[in-house]
Amino acid sequence: MALIVHKYGGTSMGSTERIRNVAKRVAKWARAGHQMVVVPSAMSGETNRLLGLAKELAPQSHTDAYARELDMIASTGEQVSVGLLSIALQAEGMQAVSYAGWQVPIKTDSAYTKARIESIDDARVRADLAAGKVVIITGFQGIDALGNITTLGRGGSDTSAVAVAAAMKADECLIYTDVDGVYTTDPRIVPEARRLHTISFEEMLEMASLGSKVLQIRSVEFAGKYRVPLRVLSSFTPWDIAIEEEAKSGTLITFEEDEKMEQAVVSGIAFNRDEAKITVMGVPDKPGIAYQILGAVAEANIDVDVILQNVSHEGKTDFSFTVHRNDYARTVELLNTKVLPELGAEKVAGDTRICKVSIVGIGMRSHVGVAAAMFRALSEEGINIQMITTSEIKTSVVIDEKYMELAVRALHRAFDLDQQAS
Ligand code: ADP
Ligand code: ASP
Ligand code: MG
Repeated sequence: MALIVHKYGGTSMGSTERIRNVAKRVAKWARAGHQMVVVPSAMSGETNRLLGLAKELAPQSHTDAYARELDMIASTGEQVSVGLLSIALQAEGMQAVSYAGWQVPIKTDSAYTKARIESIDDARVRADLAAGKVVIITGFQGIDALGNITTLGRGGSDTSAVAVAAAMKADECLIYTDVDGVYTTDPRIVPEARRLHTISFEEMLEMASLGSKVLQIRSVEFAGKYRVPLRVLSSFTPWDIAIEEEAKSGTLITFEEDEKMEQAVVSGIAFNRDEAKITVMGVPDKPGIAYQILGAVAEANIDVDVILQNVSHEGKTDFSFTVHRNDYARTVELLNTKVLPELGAEKVAGDTRICKVSIVGIGMRSHVGVAAAMFRALSEEGINIQMITTSEIKTSVVIDEKYMELAVRALHRAFDLDQQAS
């Protein structure tokens, strides 16, 4: 008998029929003798619908007071899901009980809309499991020290599931979704993408942080920190397939690099359209400018990603960096009002139509020329690279958004990702 955590995403919970299927699958695992904790997302489209209602009333605001209410509103999507799933399980003849994050409680900090889990008290859940119940816990949310409901950022149910698995020392955390595992890149963009049987934790971390939304980055961080055995698999297989077969399907996140993995130089391609580029032009080229610009941005709690400083020309230089698109307007305003006058720079220019495309692979550590192969593949497609950033196991480029799919496909081909056996 094992303690297993299942997570079901929005599409998997998308209708009462699908919820019934989830219930049948969970019941199958419970009847096989496992203790089951289930963490579902809101039904697909529901979180967007709820947040959309808020935005109809007041478009956007960066105040804490507004963000607090967004969490209050968005958290209800998962509350509906857990109740429905519990009823569906009861209809299957199982004992089941649902809890909202605050009832467990899952304690978080107070960073509304992007809260971090601080601790989970599992006493209540353990008591229910011991009494033979399936326990269903809302994904995506918790409660802060003052009793406010918080949410963990979009896609946060993954993190809830892995955090619960970590807190309870579960034997495995299975992330059921609408694809049958982690692919070399998003199969919606590249139909030839191939499912990976295993992916190393480090690669998964990079893929998630660089835009592969199949797992929320924080869920991967949790899995790494607490060594939670983690698997991504499909909720669309027939619910009654043999557990042994199901337990081996999908993609396993591994913590040890095996030989096979070392062979693949590039394991996957990630991309995101979430960033915007800002360029401060005509900056006097003297020590301290990066600090003056980025210090002010950091003070406003805005995260900076890719940074580029050009060579100077007649004592002046251009300084570019990217921020999340949601922070774009705020950053430009901050630069224009506070930084530009002090710095004596000429102007601030911005571009929101960019994307970042990245190649990821632990094999890059031991191979030279990988980045060059990337640049060649892009140049053969006539794609201009605006910014580059590299680390040990990834290379990212910022390019015009309109070439994103072309770039991803070209790179997928260039690194033979449709062909390698994993
Ligand atoms: P869920 O609602 O189950 O959490 P998500 O939509 O958050 O599902 O994540 C699954 C989706 O992630 C897939 O439908 C796929 O389009 C996308 N995706 C992006 N990159 C990858 C990848 N490398 N492998 C698999 N899926 C990916
Ligand atoms: N329902 C939330 C969202 O849509 C959390 C999740 O699905 O993981 O972002
Ligand atoms: Mg998701």
